[in-house]
Amino acid sequence: MALPLLDNATISIAGCWVSSSANEPRIAVVDPASGEPLARVLCATADLVIKGIEAAEQSLADEPSLAERRRWLVGIAEAMVTHREAIATIITRENGKPLREGRVEAEYAAGFFRFFATQLDHLETQKRPGELKGLHWSVRHRPAGVVGLITPWNFPIAMLAKKLAAAMAAGCAVVVKPAELTPLTTIALWHLMEGLGLPMKRFNLVLGNPAEIGRILCEHPAVRIISFTGSTGVGRKLIEQSAAGVKRLSLELGGNAPCIVLPDADLPKAADALVANKFRCAGQTCVCTNRVLVHRDVADAFAELVAERVRKLKVGTGMDESNDIGPLINRAGFDKVARHVSEAIAAGARRIVGDEPKTPPGDYGCFFPPTVLTHVTPDMLISREETFGPVIPIITFSTIDEGISLANGTPAGLAAYLFTGDAKQAEAIIARLHFGHVGLNTAAGPTPEAPFGGMKQSGFGREGGLEGLLEFCEVQTVVRA
Ligand code: ADP
Repeated sequence: MALPLLDNATISIAGCWVSSSANEPRIAVVDPASGEPLARVLCATADLVIKGIEAAEQSLADEPSLAERRRWLVGIAEAMVTHREAIATIITRENGKPLREGRVEAEYAAGFFRFFATQLDHLETQKRPGELKGLHWSVRHRPAGVVGLITPWNFPIAMLAKKLAAAMAAGCAVVVKPAELTPLTTIALWHLMEGLGLPMKRFNLVLGNPAEIGRILCEHPAVRIISFTGSTGVGRKLIEQSAAGVKRLSLELGGNAPCIVLPDADLPKAADALVANKFRCAGQTCVCTNRVLVHRDVADAFAELVAERVRKLKVGTGMDESNDIGPLINRAGFDKVARHVSEAIAAGARRIVGDEPKTPPGDYGCFFPPTVLTHVTPDMLISREETFGPVIPIITFSTIDEGISLANGTPAGLAAYLFTGDAKQAEAIIARLHFGHVGLNTAAGPTPEAPFGGMKQSGFGREGGLEGLLEFCEVQTVVRA
C-alpha cells in the first residue's frame, strides 16, 4: 500500500533528496502489526552525513529574520493539521499505535511549531536599562549554530517537533537522525517543509548506522548542540563522545515513573487517569507510569478499579479504529516485557488481569495482553527497570514517607504522578519528589507551552516552553562605549 506523502522515502542532504543506488545499504521499515514492508530507506554514508553538516553550516550565513522564522513555524503547524490524517496513518503504519493516537500525536507536534512561533519576541535584543559602569549593555540570543537532533521511535513526529520547532525558532540549522524503525513520518514532514518553500539546505535528514552518525555529530566541530531523546546508555555515550568538543547537550533519557495513590484520593478518577496514561503507545512512553505505589488501606479497592478498566481494553492492529492497544515495536521489546512479568510472577506477584502472552510470529505482531499485577515488590526487575509495555505493577506502602522513598528510589527522575485529596499535603510531597514533571490528580504528560525534562539520570535540558527555545540559543552580551 502506498503511503500518503511518501512518493519518495529517502534521506535529504544539502537540500536534495538523495537518489537511490543499488549498491548502497538500505533500512527496511516494516509495519510492526503485520510485518508488511513499508519502505527501504537509503542509508547515509559517513561522507553524506558530513556533507549534510557542512551544508547546514554554510546555510548559517543567511540568518533568517524573526518574521521569516515565524512564517516557517506557522506554515508547518498549518500543513501538519491539514495533513493530519496522512501523518497519523504513517505514524500508525510504522509505529503500530492506534490511529486515534497518531492523530493526537500529529496535533500535539503541530502545537510545538505553533507555540514557538509565539515566542520569537523573546529573541529581540534586550537592552539593560541605564548605564552600567558608564557603558551601554545589551543581550542578544544568537542561534547556537548547527544542531544534531536524534529521535526515538515511540513518538515519530512529536519527539522531533519539540526539538526541530525550537531549533528553527532559534535560527539554527539542523541535521536530524530519526530512529531506524520509524523514519517515514520525518521524511513526510520534510516533504511538507519542501512544499512550503523552506530553504532545505538548512534542514538535513540522515539515516543509517546510529553509532557512526552519533559519533560524527559529536565530533564534527561545526555541530554545537546535540539534542537527543532515547535510552540512558546512548545518552551517556553522547556525553563522552562530545566532551572533547565541549558541546552542549540536551538529553531526554529513560524514566521509571511512579504513580502514588493515597487513601484520600478520588480512586475512580485516579484509575481512569492511570489507565489512559499507562496504555498510550502500548505502554512504550517515557512518561508512562512504571510503578503504581498504593497505600495499603486502598490497595485492594484501587487494584479492582484498575482491573475492571483494563479488562475492557482491546488489542490489535492500530489501523482498526476499534482497537485500544497496538503491537509492541518489535520482538526485543516484547521479550523484555514478558521477562519482567514472568520474573515478577515467579517472585510472588499475582496476575489479576492478562493472559499468558503468545509468542509472536516474528519480529512483528508482538501483541502483549494488557496486564495488571498485584503483590509486586520494589526489588523486582519490573520495579527497577523501565518495562515499556502494557503492564501495571501494583506495589503497596504503609506511610507517606515510605511512599516517597519508594518513588524516589530510582536513578531516573522524569515523571511522577500523585493522587490525593489534600492540597497542602500534596505540596509537601511534591517538594520532596525528584522528578522534572509531576502530575497532581492527573496523569497528563507534557504540553508545548511548558518546559519538560528530567532530573538525575533522566537527563538535562528542557523541551517546550521558553526554556525549550533557549536551549538552542547562545547568549551574547554586547557592551558599548
Ligand atoms: P531505544 O532503545 O528506545 O530504541 P535508543 O537510545 O537505542 O533507544 O534509540 C534512540 C535513538 O538513538 C534512535 O534514533 C537510535 O537510532 C539512536 N541511537 C542508537 N544508538 C546510538 C548511538 N550510539 N549514537 C547515537 N544515536 C544512537
